[in-house]
Amino acid sequence: MFDLTGKVAIVTGGNGGIGKGIALGLAKQGCDIAIFARNKEKSELARNDIQKLGVKAEIIICDVADRRSVNDAVKKTSKIFGKLDILVNNAGTNIRTEEPQELTTEQWDQVIQTNLSSMHYMSSEVFPYFKSQQSGKVINIGSMTSIFGSPYASAYSASKGGVVQYTKSCALGWAKYNIQVNAILPGYIVTEMTKGFLEQYPEKEKIITDRTAAGRWGFPKDFEGTAVFLSSAASDFVTGTFIPVDGGYSVALN
Ligand code: NDP
Repeated sequence: MFDLTGKVAIVTGGNGGIGKGIALGLAKQGCDIAIFARNKEKSELARNDIQKLGVKAEIIICDVADRRSVNDAVKKTSKIFGKLDILVNNAGTNIRTEEPQELTTEQWDQVIQTNLSSMHYMSSEVFPYFKSQQSGKVINIGSMTSIFGSPYASAYSASKGGVVQYTKSCALGWAKYNIQVNAILPGYIVTEMTKGFLEQYPEKEKIITDRTAAGRWGFPKDFEGTAVFLSSAASDFVTGTFIPVDGGYSVALN
């Protein structure tokens, strides 16, 4: 039921952090992986680690915030792999300011384009392949800020709130083609992204650990199981929903 042998997954931002954790998890179930990212060197390291699991892995250089780049990259992937089964929209970025009004227009656009518009570009370009085969799985990566606001990450929170509503919309629109669209909302996870966050706000490390019922921050490996579930036949009647993978952070009162 969880076997992904012969399936092909695109994982945006699959060269590091949560994306790489998800790519490794899918590969362990036999899934071939297309890593969509901008940094070639980082992607080569990830590709080597994935190939060691015995599956096919390719690097597709792509800027997910650029529709033309996405269009080219999806076409290239379909040619290389011959099919597409799973799309993981994981690539993301954050720009923090003390207060929302401090974000410039350029910064706002960069965050919204990378985190939210990219999901529309990627999903729309992959959709014809999924529709023609009458099956497909889309996993969108949200955040705790899909639920909560954040004064120092306003564009990020707006984008991640949008991820959940976009997920529901695609799920409703595409259920008739047997395409399931769901979101994963990570809690606080040890990656490059949160390294920057903790450099800016070191006091947050303990505050977040104390609020997290599991008593620790998460790691990219913590996403393997949920990603496999949402990519496999096990979730064929699950669509339009979101699963927090947060060690209990989002159910705590404070
Ligand atoms: P990282 O900074 O470790 O990884 C971000 C990834 O996104 C990199 O692989 C990067 O690759 C890729 N990326 C960024 N911009 C683009 C772009 N324009 N085009 C293509 N790829 C891009 O972050 P995380 O692993 O922490 O984050 C992954 C996702 O999880 C993000 O959506 C993030 O918002 C979300 N998340 C993370 C949390 C955490 O605690 N870490 C908490 C909640 C959500 P490259 O630079 O090579 O392009």
